[in-house]
Amino acid sequence: MGIVESLRQIPDINFTEDVNLGYRTSFGVGGRAKYYVSPESVYSLMQCINAATSWEFKYKIIGNGTNILVSDKGYDGLIICTKNLNSVFLDKGEIISLCGTPITRFVNFVSGSGRTGAEGLCGIPATVGGAIYQNAGAFGYTVSDFIYEVTCIKDGKTIKRRKNACGFGYRKSVFQDSGEFIVSAKFRFPKRKKAIKNTFFERRNVSQPSGRTCGSVFTNPPSDYAGRLIESAGLKGAKVGGAQVSTKHANFIVASENAAAQDVYLLINEIKQKVYDEFGVRLKEEVEYLGEF
Ligand SMILES: Cc1cc2nc3c(=O)[nH]c(=O)nc-3n(C[C@H](O)[C@H](O)[C@H](O)COP(=O)(O)OP(=O)(O)OC[C@H]3O[C@@H](n4cnc5c(N)ncnc54)[C@H](O)[C@@H]3O)c2cc1C
Repeated sequence: MGIVESLRQIPDINFTEDVNLGYRTSFGVGGRAKYYVSPESVYSLMQCINAATSWEFKYKIIGNGTNILVSDKGYDGLIICTKNLNSVFLDKGEIISLCGTPITRFVNFVSGSGRTGAEGLCGIPATVGGAIYQNAGAFGYTVSDFIYEVTCIKDGKTIKRRKNACGFGYRKSVFQDSGEFIVSAKFRFPKRKKAIKNTFFERRNVSQPSGRTCGSVFTNPPSDYAGRLIESAGLKGAKVGGAQVSTKHANFIVASENAAAQDVYLLINEIKQKVYDEFGVRLKEEVEYLGEF
């Protein structure tokens, strides 16, 4: 008996071996994962975590893979993808979402329920769980604004964290350090008084490039913008192999069809060095590395 046999006994997890993982991220670069599951219930997901833990096999939870750069060497462990835990509903005036719900579906649900406060998140290609982990946001909105409570799991136990115990800050949450898996979240959005036309999707298209990216590569340093610094360092359009600093927004890197993850990685490091040399500012990655670089 080993991890594979244990996983095969768990129902509804869509178990696959040797999966092209890079292809399942928005960058579209990087290598393969040894094992990959996308459980269809929280129960089966917990069973996967239990199996990995009891075999001391490394695993990584992913949502929609929109903030991850996968190494060309791949990931020699188990990937647990939440995309099938996709559900959002209204209960006694509160909106409850499972972790795998796409943010745009969530935003449409909030507005369809006559409530307001999530409009600016429209177009972030994340899952609700990934967005909470990262405290994703745009145009002055963040996913944590109207969170009431997050339900998560650690060591097989369910924990409920009220908003003030979630450590939310700029692209920060306690979940980045706690090792907890976010299962669902409860939100209390205010009722909307009048109809609002959501123009955030269009605003996003005007300011950001299309193509294979991870959104912003770097977080903004205090009182400045990473994009402004990168552009001022003359790096707009700079290339390493198939990776290029976007000519539309300098805090984006676009990966071409023939790009390798290593190209993106080297370009990120070139940007960090040049911005530090020019302005003495150390840019910090918003994107997360998965696997060995
Ligand atoms: C075109 C584009 C535009 C973007 N625009 C924005 C933007 O405007 N604002 C912004 O903030 N970001 C933006 N992003 C970045 C990205 O969408 C966010 O960082 C998002 O929060 C990642 O969510 P995900 O579901 O894709 O997570 P993934 O990339 O799959 O995972 C990211 C991290 O979250 C963890 N995670 C995922 N789900 C869970 C869970 N249920 N429990 C515990 N940990 C979990 C993973 O382990 C990983 O560490 C953009 C990305 C792209 C490609």
